[in-house]
Amino acid sequence: MGLQTESIHAGVSPDKAYGAIMTPIYQSSTFVFEDIGQHRGFDYTRSGNPTRKALEENLAVLEGCSAAVAVTTGMAAVATVMHLFRTGDEIICTDDCYGGTARLMKTMGEQFGISVVFMNLRDEQAVEAAMSARTKAIWIETPSNPLLNLLDIEALAEIAHRHDALAIVDNTFLSPMFQQPFSLGADIVIHSTTKYLNGHSDVVGGAILSNSPELDERIGALVNTLGTCAQPFDTWLVLRGIKTLVPRMRLHEQNAMQVARFLAEHSAVERVFYPGLESHPQHDLARHQQKGFGGMVSFELKGGIEEVNKVLRSTKIFALAESLGGVESLIEHPATMSHASMGAEHRALAGIGDGVIRLSIGIEDSEDLVADLAEALDGTTGHL
Ligand SMILES: *Cc1c(COP(=O)(O)O)cnc(C)c1O
Repeated sequence: MGLQTESIHAGVSPDKAYGAIMTPIYQSSTFVFEDIGQHRGFDYTRSGNPTRKALEENLAVLEGCSAAVAVTTGMAAVATVMHLFRTGDEIICTDDCYGGTARLMKTMGEQFGISVVFMNLRDEQAVEAAMSARTKAIWIETPSNPLLNLLDIEALAEIAHRHDALAIVDNTFLSPMFQQPFSLGADIVIHSTTKYLNGHSDVVGGAILSNSPELDERIGALVNTLGTCAQPFDTWLVLRGIKTLVPRMRLHEQNAMQVARFLAEHSAVERVFYPGLESHPQHDLARHQQKGFGGMVSFELKGGIEEVNKVLRSTKIFALAESLGGVESLIEHPATMSHASMGAEHRALAGIGDGVIRLSIGIEDSEDLVADLAEALDGTTGHL
């Protein structure tokens, strides 16, 4: 069945007690046993919960894999997956990953003796040369945040597998609507469901997906052991959000394309980062690997920090806030907000300049979004 049909129906069936068409919120920590050693599939919510299970089944179908676990946040997904590794292991990680991922990898890596090598994964020869017997995973995030650089999942997964390492993909930016990493060779996919999957900026959540009996088992056991599982109400919200994933993603993308085209023509803008533009250096890879270009657009202003601040203060529809993937449009400054924790040195390495502004394009009317940016940018041109 098609993705839109699956997003509404997968994992969901009318409630057995009263026939409720929507999945009930089983907001219960524990479940009554029918007899000694006999329960109805659930005993304690950390180990499993019917609402969470519906979301997990839904997610596994959308991503095309054998198992999914819903966890409290995207960072909980990263932290849980890090527990697959042990002292002495090495992870090769993309150097322009989500700021929180870089921070967690650095601190956990140091504390537990797991070496994390940050590098430009677009340079596949360098990745190949960096692989050693200690390398246990390649951590891929594509498109990257905030510069929308792409990584070739298929090529990197092939390198990983040749060296007995895992290919792990953070698929938050495109969602299964626009990118299906398992079909390109990924072993593990993680999500911050906070973003497009939930889509309404009213929950933080995460997910870990896998596609082999061994990893399914290990990850399920880790989530139960660590207690990183998501709460029933949160999983219900995400399940509800996913029902409109397909039409929302279409609108995010249409609007993003309009905004990117407008910015590309603007005299105050130095560069626009959007894989949907033909000028994007990896536009061909985007067409080949993705089913759509997504809703994130970044751009670099010509002026300095004063111009940046003026734009950030001037938009009326775009709200000044971190995060992304909600129905409402957001504007933010990676160097001082989402990527502040990355540190200046790491940002410079990843090419995230102080003039870069990131937009999460919502599903408002595109003319209104363009007009809002036009007005905010107006004042800046004059200063140059
Ligand atoms: C937001 C985000 C995360 C972290 O997710 P939280 O839900 O905020 O913990 C990880 N990776 C990417 C790409 C993100 O955008």
